[in-house]
Amino acid sequence: MMKTDLLVQDLLNGKPLAIARAITAVENELEQVNDIVRLIQPHLGHAYTIGITGPPGSGKSTLINALISELVEREKKVAIIAVDPSSPISGGALLGDRVRMAAHSRNPNVFIRSLAAKGHLGGLTRMTSSVVDVLDAAGMDVVIIETVGTGQSEIEIADLAHIKLVICPPGLGDEMQAIKAGILEVADILVVNKADLPGAEETALQLENMLHCSGDGRHRTVMRTSAVQGDGVKALVDAVEDRMETLRASSDYARFSSTFRTQRMLSTHAAAIVGKFIAKHKGPEIQRICLGLQTGQLTFPAAVPEALRILSQSEPQDSPK
Ligand code: GDP
Repeated sequence: MMKTDLLVQDLLNGKPLAIARAITAVENELEQVNDIVRLIQPHLGHAYTIGITGPPGSGKSTLINALISELVEREKKVAIIAVDPSSPISGGALLGDRVRMAAHSRNPNVFIRSLAAKGHLGGLTRMTSSVVDVLDAAGMDVVIIETVGTGQSEIEIADLAHIKLVICPPGLGDEMQAIKAGILEVADILVVNKADLPGAEETALQLENMLHCSGDGRHRTVMRTSAVQGDGVKALVDAVEDRMETLRASSDYARFSSTFRTQRMLSTHAAAIVGKFIAKHKGPEIQRICLGLQTGQLTFPAAVPEALRILSQSEPQDSPK
């Protein structure tokens, strides 16, 4: 058998060393990855993913530790991947390490890993997606994806997850704006952590009010936890599992398949490449189309095929790998 076949066999048997090796291969974009990804395809679809994001200090690590305990108690195999898109050098090391330091590191049903963002400009979501597949194939029941901050790449990564939690500390203040500005749209559950502190209830009510006003028809809830005291953690896991059950039974579930995720990433990347190409080589022909659109002489349905025709005449020179 080839080395990769053996590795994948061990991976499918849930051997931690094989899981770690496969993730390293994904992280470093080793050639082996193509074979790994191909071989694990028939074994995907068991695990569900929880995306957790929120500002630094909101209590993500503490809450994740509490969630792990609760999930392990429910006899789940849990993997945690920590991704820090904002620091390409240290990767998510800090986040992951803080979870690792807690009691779970020797539990055979818990796998913790930080992902480094090195060399993955724009490809961080793709990498995270492949790592989730590796963990799914390895027999994990739940994969927690932790990201820091509330920027665009965090939203993109969080969006990979079946259930998306945003952790909000009490007294959000300015951060409320950042949370409003995008992350709120992807969230399923807004978790007001540090519910033991003064001001937490006010924040929870503010968020509830905000959800009430958004009126976009999405079902989002606000929940309160105190990660240090363990309050509200059981209820949070119950809510996550309830939602997951509903999601699995809905037509929306297909959106999370590996194939669909890849397709969506392909569209995003294609759009980015075309955008860059136009910005760099705004040929007179493209400008003519833009002018036509601006003046109303051209409609988008007519302009797009025309633009594609022009773009296909020359190869993009700076397409990312
Ligand atoms: P992260 O940066 O989002 O991962 O936040 P941490 O988990 O490191 O927590 C930041 C600080 O908040 C730490 O000092 C925690 O002990 C504290 N903390 C976390 N959860 C709670 C909570 O529920 N109540 C209180 N009072 N403090 C908390």
